[in-house]
Amino acid sequence: MSEMEKNNNTEVEPEEKVSRNFIEQIIDKDLAEGVYDTVHTRFPPEPNGYLHIGHAKSILLNYGLAQQYGGKFNMRFDDTNPTKEKVEFVESIKADIQWLGADWEDRLFFASNYFGDMYEAAVKLIKKGKAYVSDLSAEEIREYRGSLTEPGKEDPSVNRSVEENLKLFEEMKDGKYADGEKVLRARIDMTSPNINMRDPVIYRVAHMTHHNTGDKWCIYPMYDFAHPIEDAIEGITHSICTLEFEDHRPLYDWVVRELEYPHPPKQIEFAKLYLTNVVTGKRYIKKLVEEGIVDGWDDPRLVSIAALRRRGFTPESIKKFVELCGISKSNSSVDYAMLEYCIREDLKVKKPRMMAVLNPVKLVIDNYPEGQTEMLEVPNNLENPELGSRQVPFGREVYIEREDFMEVPPKKYFRMFPGNEVRLMNAYFVKCTGCVKDEEGNVTEIHCTYDPASKGGNSPDGRKVKGTIHWVAADQAVKAEVRLYENIIDEEKGVYNEDGSLNLNPNSLTVLKECYLEPAFAGAKAYDSFQFVRQGFFCVDAKDSAPDALVFNRIVSLKSSYTLPK
Ligand code: ATP
Ligand code: MG
Repeated sequence: MSEMEKNNNTEVEPEEKVSRNFIEQIIDKDLAEGVYDTVHTRFPPEPNGYLHIGHAKSILLNYGLAQQYGGKFNMRFDDTNPTKEKVEFVESIKADIQWLGADWEDRLFFASNYFGDMYEAAVKLIKKGKAYVSDLSAEEIREYRGSLTEPGKEDPSVNRSVEENLKLFEEMKDGKYADGEKVLRARIDMTSPNINMRDPVIYRVAHMTHHNTGDKWCIYPMYDFAHPIEDAIEGITHSICTLEFEDHRPLYDWVVRELEYPHPPKQIEFAKLYLTNVVTGKRYIKKLVEEGIVDGWDDPRLVSIAALRRRGFTPESIKKFVELCGISKSNSSVDYAMLEYCIREDLKVKKPRMMAVLNPVKLVIDNYPEGQTEMLEVPNNLENPELGSRQVPFGREVYIEREDFMEVPPKKYFRMFPGNEVRLMNAYFVKCTGCVKDEEGNVTEIHCTYDPASKGGNSPDGRKVKGTIHWVAADQAVKAEVRLYENIIDEEKGVYNEDGSLNLNPNSLTVLKECYLEPAFAGAKAYDSFQFVRQGFFCVDAKDSAPDALVFNRIVSLKSSYTLPK
């Protein structure tokens, strides 16, 4: 039986069997076996940059799981490294997560609020003989650590007494030592095949001002020590992170075990989301921002969440995208076209389709009465009658796209050329009679006559026209700037140059200063989006647009050869 017959034969669609991703399977099992009786997740960004599309995946995954299982979702800033962290980033991250719709309710936390607990935890380890103060320099520690093929060597300080370790650690806290002079190491196993377990550093001296705790501390916990403690304190059940932490899991488990937390959290790793030929790494985006190559972290060519929002993406489109990507255990890269597909699908029926001429040339309808304007009623979205209709003015002079006219047309060109009749969308049939050119031969004006019997763009006598073009009445047009974007990376050449720098596309931004829009666009506000007939989806720029000088970003064009992967 063919697929189609099967569908036709089933009267009632069988309930779709949704397969559970591997994280859901782990959670199901944990709940069934009573390992946990609830689900509590968190999103733990380091406030050292803006969030990007990859983080959106992590946020929506963590928040989604909490919702799905009737559990809780925490927002926690992992701010244990004061060098790169800034309040600006804290604020942007909060705004981005709220915009995505992940609700942490009253559970907004900072790892730095647990510095006291972490200090106590370190003391506990020392007392158990599971941590010691080391005098080795960072470089020596690296040397002693060994390699994948060689075991590490014991630290000369490994046999310090508990008393001495406690005293030295307290002195570290009290500022007696310079940065790097002493560290606290966990006592695990210098011969472990997992290098992360070879007596990892868990506390270091760093005389730095912290964005949250100021100068209160001059010692800071290392990530691998701090993270499990943060999770345990908050009662996190499933601590979901990305694959690069897989090798750190034994250390995560060691920390929660040695500190004897009653409900140890469980770390689960999944693959990061990568977009083919798109830069997501904070490090690279930061560089583009700092070098002024882009207009800030929210430049619409970037895939930071702030940039996607400014460009006109919606939370729904990003959710859909993340769902389509799925959750996996192996790294792979997704095509940007899939993200474009998601925003097109989202906006297609939600937004009005209106006319905008991006590269204008004037069209004069010679037999239309001078000074006359008529209003045409035009539906806002043919696929969604709920969006209603609007009045669009029509007059003797309109703007059309330059590319919709050719004096000498090639074969299969059905738009305007002398002698050809086309439809002005929703208005009239017009027949081109010629054009006016300047001294250099550029077309400055096109002329035509119209057929008054074709009002609404309907054929009066069954005669057909092959081309339909959009237009905007010249005397009532709203002038606007429109920005078109391409990938900031030169895809032909690949993302990186040999020296590790980015291969930039010099044509990633095109600014069209003189576009004409129908008057219904007047009053458009930041983040409002529209379909520009035949052109794509566009969004009012939140940074540069003003009521009397509108600026639009092209979110995505209409056409795509993209098909969804099966
Ligand atoms: P980047 O280096 O790309 O900026 P990061 O891992 O340094 O990312 P963090 O602030 O440490 O950024 O990440 C917060 C959370 O987001 C972590 O749990 C991390 O695993 C997750 N995350 C980061 N990048 C991605 C990605 N591309 N896909 C899915 N999750 C990600
Ligand atoms: Mg990081």
